Amino acid sequence: KGRPLVYFDNAATSQKPQVVIDALVNYYSNYNANIHRGIHTLAEEATAAFEETRDAVQQFIHAASREQIVFTRGTTESINLVAYTWGRQNIKAGDEIIISAMEHHSNIVPWQIICEEKKAALRIIPVNDNGELLMDEYQKLIGPKTKLVSIVHASNVLGTVNPVKEIIRLVHAAGAIVLVDGAQSSVHLDIDVQDMDCDFFAFSAHKIYGPTGAGVLYGRKKILESMPVFMGGGEMIKEVTFAKTTYNDLPYKFEAGTPNIADVIAFKAALQFLQNAGKARVRKHEHELLLYATGRLEEIPGVRIIGRAKEKVSVISFVVDKTHPQDIGILLDNRGIAVRTGHHCAEPLMQRFNIPGTVRASFAVYNTKEEVDELVSGLQKAIK
Ligand code: PLP
Repeated sequence: KGRPLVYFDNAATSQKPQVVIDALVNYYSNYNANIHRGIHTLAEEATAAFEETRDAVQQFIHAASREQIVFTRGTTESINLVAYTWGRQNIKAGDEIIISAMEHHSNIVPWQIICEEKKAALRIIPVNDNGELLMDEYQKLIGPKTKLVSIVHASNVLGTVNPVKEIIRLVHAAGAIVLVDGAQSSVHLDIDVQDMDCDFFAFSAHKIYGPTGAGVLYGRKKILESMPVFMGGGEMIKEVTFAKTTYNDLPYKFEAGTPNIADVIAFKAALQFLQNAGKARVRKHEHELLLYATGRLEEIPGVRIIGRAKEKVSVISFVVDKTHPQDIGILLDNRGIAVRTGHHCAEPLMQRFNIPGTVRASFAVYNTKEEVDELVSGLQKAIK
């Protein structure tokens, strides 16, 4: 309060560009209506805008068709959707699901629930001290019992970019399928789900300059078609009688009830914002900030960076000798610097590194080197 803000908590959620806020206000001010069912003008306008976002998302991740884009509340719901539908249908006693040691809780807990229910087992790909997956160990985990690999594309703690193409190739050869958690990668990396050859890809709008409460599940068409429905209600049906209900086609089969219309509509403005800024240019800028911040933080005695993978997105976690991350976070906050502290919803990863938590700075398009300097001087004062 009372200081210019340095916002370095972008991996939790990014700030929203004015065009996104304007899109929200415009919808509520000028064409607020429920979608798909109305025949009046406002409903048609709202439906068209909502469906335009589906096209924009299709292009953003290079999906083959718009039917493969299911709107959810975010990554968490997307993963749960797969767990509760595909998982419940396909996971049997004795089967195995592989995840990694660097997963967010939202890519751990749904699989634990399914494993417990089905008497299946969760297998974990370990990480090395740099925060990279041990691919040899991964290969050893793959076997005839493997049914699904659910893997994070870029770690929200370590910044590590995982070799998802290789991960997918290896397990497809064994006949299993792959879900990629793109919560952190989608804002930084070019996403091509066809080239990646993933079976599912999940991400959230709010980490890509879009609103909260909107997200995406992309799925391979054949798999989505074969999956049982998730939630029952309006929109996801073709016909309802008390004797029998038939379900809607993709993607509506998975979109029961009134969706988050305003936020999905405004998500398109966020995708356009990123496209206009140029993803490659943004990535270069963020990478420069990452390298600069890494170098500057390394100069501070007692600071240890957690996550030294060769390929990283602009997320930098660190611990400071003899201090608790939360204390550092509070002192930085007093200087107007917003960082994230704690376990970052990745408690098993903290256990792997034997630390209570980290301080995390994550960079976005609007961050600057001067702000990194602020962080460094704030940190030096906090340590003192
Ligand atoms: N996966 C990763 C890697 C994340 O960083 C996050 C959020 O921080 C999630 C999943 C969950 O995303 P959401 O809370 O938007 O559902």
